[in-house]
Amino acid sequence: MLNSAPPPPRKATAEFDVAVIGAGVVGCAVFRALTLAGLSVILLERSADILDGASKGNSAILHTGFDAPPGSREVQMMQAGRRRYLAERALFGLPVLQTDAVLVAWSQEEAARLPAIIDKAHQNGVTDVRPIELDVLRHRMPTLASSPIAALSVPGEHIIDPWSSPLAYVLQAMAHGGVVQRLFDVDTAERLGGVWRLSAGTRAVDAGIVINCAGNYGDHVEALSRPSPFAIRPRKGQFVVFDKTAQRHVPTILLPVPTARTKGVVVCPTIFGNVLVGPTAEDQDDRGVATVERSTLKHLIDEAARMVPALADEPVNAIYAGLRPASDQKDYIIEAIPGRHWVTVAGIRSTGLTAALGIADHVTELVEEHFLPLRPLQDLIWPSLPNLAEHLPRDHERPGRGDIVCLCELVTRDEIVAALAGPLPAGNLGGLKRRTRAMMGRCQGFNCLAAVCEMAQDKLLEAPPLPGGTSLDV
Ligand SMILES: Cc1cc2nc3c(=O)[nH]c(=O)nc-3n(C[C@H](O)[C@H](O)[C@H](O)COP(=O)(O)OP(=O)(O)OC[C@H]3O[C@@H](n4cnc5c(N)ncnc54)[C@H](O)[C@@H]3O)c2cc1C
Repeated sequence: MLNSAPPPPRKATAEFDVAVIGAGVVGCAVFRALTLAGLSVILLERSADILDGASKGNSAILHTGFDAPPGSREVQMMQAGRRRYLAERALFGLPVLQTDAVLVAWSQEEAARLPAIIDKAHQNGVTDVRPIELDVLRHRMPTLASSPIAALSVPGEHIIDPWSSPLAYVLQAMAHGGVVQRLFDVDTAERLGGVWRLSAGTRAVDAGIVINCAGNYGDHVEALSRPSPFAIRPRKGQFVVFDKTAQRHVPTILLPVPTARTKGVVVCPTIFGNVLVGPTAEDQDDRGVATVERSTLKHLIDEAARMVPALADEPVNAIYAGLRPASDQKDYIIEAIPGRHWVTVAGIRSTGLTAALGIADHVTELVEEHFLPLRPLQDLIWPSLPNLAEHLPRDHERPGRGDIVCLCELVTRDEIVAALAGPLPAGNLGGLKRRTRAMMGRCQGFNCLAAVCEMAQDKLLEAPPLPGGTSLDV
């Protein structure tokens, strides 16, 4: 049936220069870069908080790009993103855990693949990847099982806080006038008189340029503007998190010999003081739900204990799974569509935390090249993020701090109050957890959930789950 309603009025100018769809780590970084380039930008996110998609559940490794496909856009973006992160992180008070990595071959067949890995690393400009003697390896990681055949040293692979960094990008953009709309599920994109009108139900936003950063829904959002030339199929990664007592056994990132499809099961410290084992790589159709399976988790624990036997006696704190936004194309998809005033940023599957700032700079160049002159801002404001890293001073150590609400992770009442206030308060319990570490520890919120909910009551955009409802996801 023809729609007889009159078309909305044509607008010569848009409310915003740019609308970024999707507040994962990539969208947050793009939002920041374009705002700092002097444009008026709005960030639209369907969830009640930022980082509620792929970006909520990763391994948090700041990669060097040593094993990425040489010459790919991915390696360029990762290395540019890593450089920028390391150059700017101190201005935000963001932590880095300088662990480096060892890549260990456990069979002759794996050992035979090490020279090709060194070659690839050197092609990627990571020239300090080199073989390491087994006695040096044992000295570096005395807890390692006695059966390695050969190993490489991979300096520069580090661990970061996967949630505070994108939050810092958004807060800086907001301090310079960027606007964030959460619970804005873009369902229509219409081009009216040279302006994009993005709608979410009855609400609408007009912008001159759209940047699609929709992660696991990238092809759906693309299809709002044109038949999508790519398809997204999420690749699930399951993880096991060992208790803090386990970290003394894992001083560095322990990498396996990667396959063509996955980097394999990694054992690594987390910035929050735990040890992480995972992820798996399982293709699935569901874009929203990442389940964990008992048999897979048992396999991960067995693998961890095979490589680091002391982990067999360590308690497990948590389990979770993340969904990588994998596409049917080999490389990241980042392209401007000049006639449409649209930029696609899709298929940022396994390395987007590292690459985000590099991608953001590249998108900014595309916007300048194809669409708009930029007016980079001077005198930048650098919001300082509260420290959540275990190896640096935390709020609970501050003289005169009030009560501690989450006893497992030592989260103070003041930290929770602060996370529920400010320019971008937590929008849901997951967001509160990512801003404070509350509910992330041994009891997984069993002891503090009621107190946290009482504090958060009426402040969140999304109601906490009812008692007996589903467990919190990370
Ligand atoms: C298991 C696993 C391990 C990983 N390990 C690492 C690692 O160690 N190091 C590293 O650098 N990277 C790692 N990654 C990769 C990294 O997490 C991803 O590349 C990154 O999170 C992708 O971010 P994104 O912003 O593209 O997608 P997302 O985080 O999914 O963000 C997209 C956002 O768009 C929103 N959205 C979708 N549709 C709409 C719509 N119609 N309207 C409004 N909003 C919408 C979603 O709600 C979501 O918030 C890992 C990923 C996984 C899953």
